[in-house]
Amino acid sequence: MKIVIALGGNALGNSPEEQRQIVRESAKSIIDLIEQGHDVVIAHGNGPQVGMINNAFEKSRNLDNSIPEMPFAECNAMSQAYIGYHLQNALSEELRNRGIEKPVGTIVTQVLVDKEDPAFKNPSKPIGSFYSKEEAEKISKDTSYIFVEDSGRGYRRVVSSPRPISIVEIDMISTLIDRKHLVITVGGGGIPVYREENRLIGIDAVIDKDFASSKLAEELDADYLIILTAVEKVAINFGKDNERWLSKVSIEELDKYIYEGHFAPGSMLPKVEAARKFAISKKGRKALITSLEKASEGIKGETGTIIIDE
Ligand code: ADP
Ligand code: MG
Repeated sequence: MKIVIALGGNALGNSPEEQRQIVRESAKSIIDLIEQGHDVVIAHGNGPQVGMINNAFEKSRNLDNSIPEMPFAECNAMSQAYIGYHLQNALSEELRNRGIEKPVGTIVTQVLVDKEDPAFKNPSKPIGSFYSKEEAEKISKDTSYIFVEDSGRGYRRVVSSPRPISIVEIDMISTLIDRKHLVITVGGGGIPVYREENRLIGIDAVIDKDFASSKLAEELDADYLIILTAVEKVAINFGKDNERWLSKVSIEELDKYIYEGHFAPGSMLPKVEAARKFAISKKGRKALITSLEKASEGIKGETGTIIIDE
């Protein structure tokens, strides 16, 4: 099978040391799948990591204005390299440990979005540092940044979260997979770009990695999309007394649960929607949501939440 694995950014830790450790563990589950004979492609999130990079530039620029302003697209590119480096490093070690010969590499990936996407009219994704109301007003006068109050913690910049249209580097990714190389791509949902004649122009926005991974899986004609996060299964009535973990869900059932509001926007909802989108895109395609530790068992059908259009 051709499998796209989407690794959750929140499960990758908060420092380089933590991330290195976690990624070495994750590498084992991923290489298990390769050992079972599957073609695997890796996508990943970057929420905490891109936040860290963005904050570092923002804070140091507040102290020393000779430090350049770092656009969000560039921060995303840095996060792809930072996470990709740890992943390719750990994955090649694990491949060697098992005597498997396979080149591993990361592709800095751009994803095309629509400049007219309604998301641009309603920036909603908070990023970067917290500011007081006065600071936020001053920055937004000097730049064109939009700030909103974030859950009583202060003012934060918000950016748009447009839907992915297509993956710019898809032909290269696809060629490498055909040659049995292990590719890490669309990190953090990819760098959002729009086209103006021959130019691709980066935008200050964040594409949800769950949607970008689902798009990647469709464009690669994958059989399986596996979204790995912090929970083993998706639940209805999550965190309540009557919580129920789901094993296999039909599209009809899923739509009912989405409508009833069981999945939190910004965390589980995009995963469920991305999984649904992939599962209905072609007959036989399946999506699985489970935890990193359970990936191998999940693909054998022993755990996780499977979304399938029957
Ligand atoms: P990632 O970094 O993998 O994208 P997120 O933190 O964005 O992870 O989303 C996963 C989290 O969603 C879970 O850890 C869980 O706390 C939360 N969550 C919200 N609603 C649900 C639900 N209905 N079932 C399971 N988990 C849920
Ligand atoms: Mg998430």
